[in-house]
Amino acid sequence: MAVTASIGAVSALRHARTAEEAMSRTQEALDLAKARRRGSLMAWRPNVEREAQRRVNIRVTDEIVTALNERRIVMAYEPVVTTVTREPAFHECLVRMRQEDGGCLLSPDIVPVAEKLGLIRLVDHRVLELVVTELAASPQARLSLNISPDTTMDPDWWASIESLLRAHPGVAERLIVEITETVATAATPEILGRLEALRGLGFHIALDDFGTGHCGFNYLKTLPVDSVKIDRSYVSSLINDRVAQIFVSALAQIASIQDITIVAEGVETEEEFALAKAAGCRRFQGYLFGRPVPLEEIGASARASSVPRLLTA
Ligand code: C2E
Ligand code: CA
Ligand code: CA
Repeated sequence: MAVTASIGAVSALRHARTAEEAMSRTQEALDLAKARRRGSLMAWRPNVEREAQRRVNIRVTDEIVTALNERRIVMAYEPVVTTVTREPAFHECLVRMRQEDGGCLLSPDIVPVAEKLGLIRLVDHRVLELVVTELAASPQARLSLNISPDTTMDPDWWASIESLLRAHPGVAERLIVEITETVATAATPEILGRLEALRGLGFHIALDDFGTGHCGFNYLKTLPVDSVKIDRSYVSSLINDRVAQIFVSALAQIASIQDITIVAEGVETEEEFALAKAAGCRRFQGYLFGRPVPLEEIGASARASSVPRLLTA
């Protein structure tokens, strides 16, 4: 049997004063060695940039954990509308972090960092609690939430959703869980089996950002999904890109046979709406129909027209 060894090294006591420091730095050097070339040796060296990044990571980790503890993780709601009435069929919940100075951080400032620092499962868990609470409080609401690949692979998250949904009857049917293509291609048979079994509780599964990864049409046969969301990059190309047009129409045809709904994301103009509709999309979201807003703002417009908040078609 041929064996290849990658080695990470640190010079103690010069670059590591404690056993913990020596272990974490050799691990860092080992990761670098593996990334460079398997079977190589890498010695840890001080690096000003990396140190600065590490300090930033520690600060951001602290900020996210504090925000979780102080209940400053909140949701913004973006409408997803139907073809005919343009009324919301459901709202997508997008994570936001209220800051101490009154500002608000958006998902792209939170999610990638939380993913990198290993905190995304905590964030996604809080979002799940918030969404289930809102669904239980608003019997008319239908909501979707996003989970990152790490969360999808986490049995604890699936155990939480199961117990929350069992504790709140009538909620599961109004919940959609959006998973990404990456998960679809990486999921183990065990995770897929669990997904399929839990879908029996009544919630729907959407495949998000379709077309951006490596997920081919054949995955639609094996994955337990109820809807597919086409990434904005395709929607905005429908106007002048023949390949995008054929891609969306073919997807819509396959989906219709399998009872899968196609959602067009990021629709910004009437022209994009018309083209997506003609290609076979049945649900639409984007700035044309409404931006993500906090619940108070939906509540305000709903009160003005005396319909319940988060009312859906
Ligand atoms: P996504 O799931 O694809 O969500 C849609 C994103 O597109 C949202 O950005 C939304 O504001 C934006 N968008 C909606 N309509 C339009 C449009 O017409 N034009 C353009 N240019 N953009 C539009 P946001 O809120 O910044 O979210 C970014 C990503 O962060 C989401 O992409 C999702 O992948 C991730 N995310 C959001 N919330 C969560 C969460 O609770 N957990 C996890 N794991 N990820 C989340
Ligand atoms: Ca999404
Ligand atoms: Ca998306």
